[in-house]
Amino acid sequence: MYKGKSIGGIRSVLYTMKIGRKVGFINMIKTLLSKNSCKTCALGMGGQHGGMVNEQGHWPEICKKSVQSMASDMQAPITENFFNKYSIKDLKNFSPRELEQSGRLNFPVFLNSRSNHYSPISWEKAFEYIEKKIKKTIPNKSFFYFSGRSSNEAGFLLQLFARVYGTNHINNCSYYCHQASGVGLSKSLGNGTATVALEDLDYCDLFFLIGANPSSNHPRLLTKLKDIRKRGGKVIVVNPVVEKGLLKFSIPSNIKSLIFGSKIASEYIQVKPGGDLALFSGIAKYIISKNLIDSDFINNFTEDFNLYCSKIKKLTWKEIEYSSGIKKEEIEKIGNYYSISKNTIFSWCMGITHHPHGTATVQQIVNLALTRGMVGKKHAGLLPIRGHSNVQGMGSMGVTPKLKEEIFKRLMELDVLLPTIEGYDTLACINAADRNEIDFSFCLGGNLYGSNPDSELTSTSLSKIETIVYASTALNTGHVWGTGKNTLILPVLARDEEHQSTTQESMFNFVRLSDGGINRYKNLRSEVEIIAEIASRVLGDSNIFNWIKLKNHENIRKLIAQIIPDYNKIGMIDKTKKEFHITKRVLHKPIFSTKSGKAKFFYHHIPKPYYLKVNEFQLLSVRSEGQFNTVVYEEEDIYRGQDRRNIVLMNKSDMNKLNFLRDDKVVIKNDIGTMENIHVRPFEIKKGAVLMYYPEVNTLISQKVDPLSKTPGFKSMIVSVKKADSSYRKLKL
Ligand code: SF4
Repeated sequence: MYKGKSIGGIRSVLYTMKIGRKVGFINMIKTLLSKNSCKTCALGMGGQHGGMVNEQGHWPEICKKSVQSMASDMQAPITENFFNKYSIKDLKNFSPRELEQSGRLNFPVFLNSRSNHYSPISWEKAFEYIEKKIKKTIPNKSFFYFSGRSSNEAGFLLQLFARVYGTNHINNCSYYCHQASGVGLSKSLGNGTATVALEDLDYCDLFFLIGANPSSNHPRLLTKLKDIRKRGGKVIVVNPVVEKGLLKFSIPSNIKSLIFGSKIASEYIQVKPGGDLALFSGIAKYIISKNLIDSDFINNFTEDFNLYCSKIKKLTWKEIEYSSGIKKEEIEKIGNYYSISKNTIFSWCMGITHHPHGTATVQQIVNLALTRGMVGKKHAGLLPIRGHSNVQGMGSMGVTPKLKEEIFKRLMELDVLLPTIEGYDTLACINAADRNEIDFSFCLGGNLYGSNPDSELTSTSLSKIETIVYASTALNTGHVWGTGKNTLILPVLARDEEHQSTTQESMFNFVRLSDGGINRYKNLRSEVEIIAEIASRVLGDSNIFNWIKLKNHENIRKLIAQIIPDYNKIGMIDKTKKEFHITKRVLHKPIFSTKSGKAKFFYHHIPKPYYLKVNEFQLLSVRSEGQFNTVVYEEEDIYRGQDRRNIVLMNKSDMNKLNFLRDDKVVIKNDIGTMENIHVRPFEIKKGAVLMYYPEVNTLISQKVDPLSKTPGFKSMIVSVKKADSSYRKLKL
């Protein structure tokens, strides 16, 4: 039983007080109580129930992440003097946090290859420039990238404009996070999102938390996990890294938990990185060999079980144990918990999807759920833990290289001429830029450079693009390292500053309505206004689409209701104010949207093991407690007890073997890049694995992808770790 310190709690409360002092308590409370959905993670809170309220009406729903992003949006604006003072070369010396904290962008800025400084440009000149550049570009030589922080309205409108303009090179940040979940779930079940609603977590008796660290990234999920333990259920954590916040967490909104902490993990399975496919194959083998399957469910609602079953039976325990790093007895113990559970929920995050066999592992989790009929019933199911607050909505809105058949059909019925050429995924766009095949790119939020693997190659590829337009709230590394021959940054309103309401979709398929309405800065535009203006200038307004009229969000929502399947309730949301679950997504009955109407088993081989040489390790790239996605709010990671980011965390016995002492300087290297001046530190991590912080570590991540989802292996790189030699040390110290 874990007897260590509880994580979270009082420090989060103190942090919130500190932010309150900085931005003003009245301003902070006004923002937190406003009817806007949380701008950070996809768990979702806020909206029409009021700020800090979830879809079950529970209050207060707030965490440090939410406060961090709110504070960032409330900082003072950047002045013109800032851009006069700092050249691009200077800005390259800024850390991700320093760039973020330079202030809110408050006027458009422009940079060309003859200049070393961004300089202010008027909105009119910026629009004229963009119009001229797009008109000069062949549509297929352009791409459009979207982050998950934008609204459904902006996402829908921009993908529509891009397609009518003539390109399918439309993609979003999910290619670097949960694309494998979408692909795997769609093929297995006919739909690529969670099958459970938030309230199902209140009734399950077994919860698998796989390759995820919600204590840092989705803090409010911990309340649900605490409650599962409280009512006698089990939480099985599967993770190569022992995250203290998943052992014991202090939940600030619960006094008892705040003081004494709450136990989270009932069992902590320290799997090898990427060994989850083997682990879940092992649990399936146990369930099948003991005949603990739900035969009625399998016979009536699934297909291809026999083939799957015969393959699973042939796996040897030796293979399973070696590849998972977990002993047979431990796997059987977990299998036994599963066999007696009435309602199991399987959740996972990027520890699963960031491998070349990411989609295969997602489908193996689905298989395991199907063996016991844990999909298609109340209080049980599957939950990919999504990152950004509206990343799922982007997928729903058609922000994908290939449109869903139904969306394509409905657009064709409106007489829209759609491009048929194959669209590029995110990485394919970068590769096309590298081949000099891209002239224009529009990035709606996010940090494409920062999230992309192989930072050096990414920077070179982006620099070959004639024009890149970024729509952003604050500076990030992409504006500095991801510049094209010409680069424009357009400052946009944050969600709670919008002049019209917007909508967002949570990872529980719940659509929230955000009122916007907070007036902070004068010179910002809404994303929708910018997109509609560009579309109108480039394409002109027609009978099919009057882009100027589509500056009105209500008009966009009417179009979404008409075109996006199962989203019809959005058309009336301005009048009803009723937020809703998207039809057919939450599966409380075994009705699957596959062609056959049945869920499908997919067998995947356990990948061949790689045998690490001396000094070699498998690298896990992770986020810290002080950041969200590529945005770094604080240098320290208090949950892991780290005060800096240029560190590599390693198992103590691996350090001993290599004669490393804490804070020895090491060099981390592989075929992709080298990172120097890194401090090595001991940590509870599986032997043979090391952990470093994203996005800095992208220097070492290759562009090799999971062939099914096109997601790079952010947690599967092999690196060598060696002591910095003495001459190097002299140079750096
Ligand atoms: S858990 Fe996610 S949705 Fe909830 S308050 Fe925190 S960041 Fe926002």
